[in-house]
Amino acid sequence: MLENKINETFGDPDPTGFGTGWWSGVLSAFFGVLAFGGVVCLHFPEWLSSPEVRQNVPMDVVRPLSIVAAIILGVASAILRKKKILGLTGMLFALAATLLGGASVELDETLKSRPAIGLDWFLLDLLLMTLIFSPIEVLWPAYPKQGIFRSEWLLDVKYFLATHLPIRITTPLILLPATHLANFLGNDSALAAVTSLPWLVQFFLAVLVADVAEYWIHRALHKVWWLWRFHAIHHSSKALDWIAGSRAHFIDDIVIRGGMLIPMMFLFPQNIIVAYLLFVTIHATWAHTNFGPSIPWLERFIIFPRFHHWHHTSQPEAIDKNFSIHFPWIDKIFGTYYCPDDGTWPETYGLHNEKIPESFWKQTLFPFRRRKKRV
Ligand SMILES: [Zn+2]
Ligand SMILES: [Zn+2]
Repeated sequence: MLENKINETFGDPDPTGFGTGWWSGVLSAFFGVLAFGGVVCLHFPEWLSSPEVRQNVPMDVVRPLSIVAAIILGVASAILRKKKILGLTGMLFALAATLLGGASVELDETLKSRPAIGLDWFLLDLLLMTLIFSPIEVLWPAYPKQGIFRSEWLLDVKYFLATHLPIRITTPLILLPATHLANFLGNDSALAAVTSLPWLVQFFLAVLVADVAEYWIHRALHKVWWLWRFHAIHHSSKALDWIAGSRAHFIDDIVIRGGMLIPMMFLFPQNIIVAYLLFVTIHATWAHTNFGPSIPWLERFIIFPRFHHWHHTSQPEAIDKNFSIHFPWIDKIFGTYYCPDDGTWPETYGLHNEKIPESFWKQTLFPFRRRKKRV
């Protein structure tokens, strides 16, 4: 179990259930690192923070709250637990954040907008995702035995870091070719017609266009053998939860996001595209969560986790099914729908009769390696 692995690292082999001070310790460390990262952003704003976040997010509220949370939870953990190392880690990071100036670091507001790594985006992203998805997985899991810190959890954390940390740099890089192509072949009258519609209608159309595009790109990723080598990595997870959704080869990510944005650039204004990118991040993550409850009538119109979990099964009956990511009826139209009406979930996940390496770097190189001849 990974819980044991974390505890081995911290030199703390005690039990990990509720009331043992383990959860308060882990959360204290989480908020401590968050507060510390936030303060580091303030010290190197030109490299690590983004003007949009500086202007729109009350970081001066988020930071002190993280410091306070890390300290309170750290104290709770230290009281409940014999070994104090987890709580102490959280409190030390909170203390370091306070010593570095806490929320009161003066910021040079004259900084020009320029590409930055966007550590503040990342911390906000991590905080939001953890706050939205972790509690529902703990409270209403589809697979209660799985637990948050399942095996391969650390591998998926690496993927989360690798895809979400440089998002401020990769998103414009992906947008750039699509923007140029749309400008080059531009269809101003279609754009004008769409822009005249009410915002909600534009947004719904954007989700629809994106999902039809994503459906065919995703289907190609399964059917074209050399594309499948990239996409197989996303399918190698043997258990799903919100963080497992970030396991994807960077080429897979570029092909899907870049390909889907091309038709969108022709039809939708920038504000709709930005709103869609935010929506897809949340909805695609939601599709992977280990969350059991469902609303059967709604499940037919919009994707609930069970539908995408069937996409990840290694059971033969559901292989190459459920390619859409927002609307399950797109798969019905194109004949690739599989989601039993009785509400059952898959029994096994991962690749069917295929093996890929287990480490992050080996997986990153894997699709570029020559295929071994089958005997
Ligand atoms: Zn797939
Ligand atoms: Zn997936």
